[in-house]
Amino acid sequence: MLDLGSYIMLVGGIIYFFVFVLGLILGSFLNSWMWRVHDNIKILSNSRSMCPNCRYQLRWYENIPVLSWLALRAHCSNCKKPIHWSYPSVELATGLLMMFVVGQHVKLIHFSEWSMLRDVCFLTLLIITFVYDLRYKIILSRVVWAGTIIGFFINFFTLNFTIESMLLGMLIGGGFFLLQYIISSGRWIGGGDVRFGVMMGAWLGWQNTLLALFIAYVLGASLGMILLLLKKVNSKTEIPFGVFLSVGTFVAIYYGTTIVGWYAHLIGY
Ligand SMILES: [Zn+2]
Repeated sequence: MLDLGSYIMLVGGIIYFFVFVLGLILGSFLNSWMWRVHDNIKILSNSRSMCPNCRYQLRWYENIPVLSWLALRAHCSNCKKPIHWSYPSVELATGLLMMFVVGQHVKLIHFSEWSMLRDVCFLTLLIITFVYDLRYKIILSRVVWAGTIIGFFINFFTLNFTIESMLLGMLIGGGFFLLQYIISSGRWIGGGDVRFGVMMGAWLGWQNTLLALFIAYVLGASLGMILLLLKKVNSKTEIPFGVFLSVGTFVAIYYGTTIVGWYAHLIGY
C-alpha cells in the first residue's frame, strides 16, 4: 500500500511526464509547421511528416521526437543529409518549458485554467517567434496578430487586467519600435518588431512591457558583444531581435512582478 504522500508524488510525476510528452509532440509539430510555412507547403494536403531535404515521407518510428533523431544519428534515412540539432532541441525545449509553465500554475492557490491556457498559448507563440526569427530572420505577422488578440481578450475578460494598462503597454511597445523604424527608415529594425512591441503591451501591461524591452536589449547587447569579440559576427550582421524579445517577454511573464517590485523598493517608491 502507498501512503498518501507517495501517492500524490506518483500522480504528480505521471501528470508532469504526460505534460512533457505533450510538449515534445507540440515541439515536433511546430518544427514541421514552421518549415512548411517557410517553404510555402500546404499543411492539410500533405499531412505526413517528411525530410526537409528530399521530402521522403517519414515512417512513424522515424518521427518520434528526439529519440528518432538520436536513433538515425542525425541523418535522413533516405538521402543521408544531416538533420540539424536545432530540430530535436526545439522538441526538448518545448517539453521542458511546458512542464515549467504548467508547474507555475499548479502551485498557485488561485488556480485559473484560463490563465494556464493563456500561458500555454503564449509559450507556443514565443517558441515560434524565437525559432522562426533565428532560422529565417523574420517575425511572422500572423503569429503576432493572433497573439495580440488572444492575449488582449483573455487578459481583459478573465484576469482583471485594466484596459488602460494594456493600451498604454501597446503604445509603449509599438511606439518604441515605430520610432526607431521611422528614424532609421527601416534599417535597424523591421515591421515585425513594431508588431511584436504591440503584442507585448497586450500581454504584459505597460510596466512589464518596459521590463521585457530592457531584458531583451541587455541580452541582445551582451550576446552581440561576445560574438563580436569572438569574431563570429561583424557589425553588418543582421540581428534576429525577435529571439531576444521572446526571451524578455517570457521572463517578464513569470518574474516581472517580482523584478518590478524589487526595483520599486530599491528606488524607494
Ligand atoms: Zn532526406
